[in-house]
Amino acid sequence: MLRYAHPMARYVHIVDGAQSSLTPGKIVCVGRNYAEHAKELNNPIPAEPVLFIKPSTALIRLEEPVAIPTEHGDCHFETEMAILIGQPLTDCSEQQAAEAITGLGVALDLTLRDLQNQLKEKSLPWEKAKAFDGACPISGFVAPPAAAELQNQRIQLRQNGELKQDGNSADMLTPVLPLLVYISQFFTLLPGDVVLTGTPAGVGPLAVGDRLQVTLSNHIDIATSIVSRR
Ligand code: ZN
Repeated sequence: MLRYAHPMARYVHIVDGAQSSLTPGKIVCVGRNYAEHAKELNNPIPAEPVLFIKPSTALIRLEEPVAIPTEHGDCHFETEMAILIGQPLTDCSEQQAAEAITGLGVALDLTLRDLQNQLKEKSLPWEKAKAFDGACPISGFVAPPAAAELQNQRIQLRQNGELKQDGNSADMLTPVLPLLVYISQFFTLLPGDVVLTGTPAGVGPLAVGDRLQVTLSNHIDIATSIVSRR
């Protein structure tokens, strides 16, 4: 019998200079958290955060070749700052949210854009377009900076050497702490859960053979490549 082997059995991350590990959980994502990105997809700027979830089976390591589906039209990259949660959060305050952040990383919110547009047109949920196996390639995590510094992180993606995304977390419509407070009113966040904080502008389609470089300020710098899932 085939058994699904989780590609990320544990996150290893650095807390207070020491290695620690957590079991990966769900990924809570926010759509349209940067005005310029909402505009590029002709979406209105939302009055409150647009939330969706990827399951832990979406997680793969960004450092390894990223296998994308090729049979459902365009698969877009969206480069996003990732927050690793270390303590449970339910109906939390901003102070509790700040204390629960245990790691800072970067991830791709892979999106089957053609499929997503078809689903949106029919007012159907997005999951098949955003929550498929491997839809969340993610970096390792570094110790989080002070809360104020969370809103001063540069997020960049280069595709085959060309700078495609160059954003700063200062431009988030809902900053990290209020975002965690908002999320925790709907979904309890547990240790090992990750929050993706939305993509800056510049998203676009991936092609098999692409080389990507993904950076978060001077904290994380990862080179990877795109391969076909089958
Ligand atoms: Zn996204």
